[in-house]
Amino acid sequence: MRLPVYLDYNATTPVDQRVLTAMLPWFTEQFGNAASRTHLYGWTAEEAVAQARKQVAKLLNANPKEIVFTSGATEANNLAIKGVFEKLSYKGRHIVTVATEHKAVLDTCHHLEQLGAEVTYLTPSADGLITPEQLAEALRKETILVSVMYANNEIGVIQPIRELAAVTHQAGALFHTDATQAVGKLPLDVQAEGIDLLSLSAHKLYGPKGIGALYVRQGIEVVSQMDGGGHERGRRSGTLNVPAIVGLGKACELAQKEMKTESERLRQLRDRLESAVLENVPDTFVNGSATHRLSHLTNICFEHIDGENLLLNLKDIAVSTGSACTSASVLPSYVLKMLGLSDDQAYASLRFSLGRFTTDEEIDFAIQHIGEVVRKMRMDVSYS
Ligand code: PMP
Repeated sequence: MRLPVYLDYNATTPVDQRVLTAMLPWFTEQFGNAASRTHLYGWTAEEAVAQARKQVAKLLNANPKEIVFTSGATEANNLAIKGVFEKLSYKGRHIVTVATEHKAVLDTCHHLEQLGAEVTYLTPSADGLITPEQLAEALRKETILVSVMYANNEIGVIQPIRELAAVTHQAGALFHTDATQAVGKLPLDVQAEGIDLLSLSAHKLYGPKGIGALYVRQGIEVVSQMDGGGHERGRRSGTLNVPAIVGLGKACELAQKEMKTESERLRQLRDRLESAVLENVPDTFVNGSATHRLSHLTNICFEHIDGENLLLNLKDIAVSTGSACTSASVLPSYVLKMLGLSDDQAYASLRFSLGRFTTDEEIDFAIQHIGEVVRKMRMDVSYS
């Protein structure tokens, strides 16, 4: 059986062979516990972790001491938001975020609301963006934290992070960004952009699943959400997953080296796919800002088409709908609804996300396949 062409790199990426090669020895020969201070096994593992910490920090222009390894971006978001709230709730209990954030941010905020936090959820405009003026209006003297994602996972829209961080600091609050979809995809500089806390995840940049990090600017304290042996300078206890950390470090190093050429290559492929679909298939449009967005992604609405059938018929490509699965039902994407789309439009929207291993031929194939499937579906509807 031929596998479908993978165009869902925002969901997850395959581990790069070079990352896997770097990881392998740390499972077997070099299996030491990085916290073992009494022998060579431990020292070697500790050195590998230190090297990875440098590689992650370099990609963000941070200091290695500012990197806390976590199990991924979900945990990093939890640590950032809950950790700041616990530390600073004596000062104020107000948090500002955006209604189109990932659930790992939204549900963390909902949790804190149960504990007495007041959360403002900003509504983006139809292109998915929020403005510094809009944020400034929401800030109060009790605001302790602003959390705005760098690039949206569904529509790829990139928020004006530098400006938002500046407005946040003027109000005396801290600025956190969930940069899971941006790290390794575009140049990012926590110093220049004034970011206080930043979440990232290895499996979105050709590293393994189950490992990520939180950048915490020096001088900022977060209350640990995982108590125990005091690893990670007391900020996240638990024996370090050395092979995965080595993988994350290598993935960051590769992303840094290859980002420029790679993002240009993907932009061209994405643009070719997008313009072919918009041209060949009537009643289609792109969701979210066409200018302020990631270069490897397009989210397209196919109007007057049943979204579920569209996905079923597009069986030779692996893409995702704008819809999010909850335990019992498939709901239309809250991100797309927030941009003003109807339920039907949200169901009939597909996210195509390209990546390191996407080829010209795969894009040619996808263009042809999408055209054929939609034409057939529309003909079936008009004859029925
Ligand atoms: N934030 C964003 C924007 C994401 O896209 C994801 C992954 N879907 C996460 C957080 C969660 O990351 P992880 O899988 O590492 O927990």
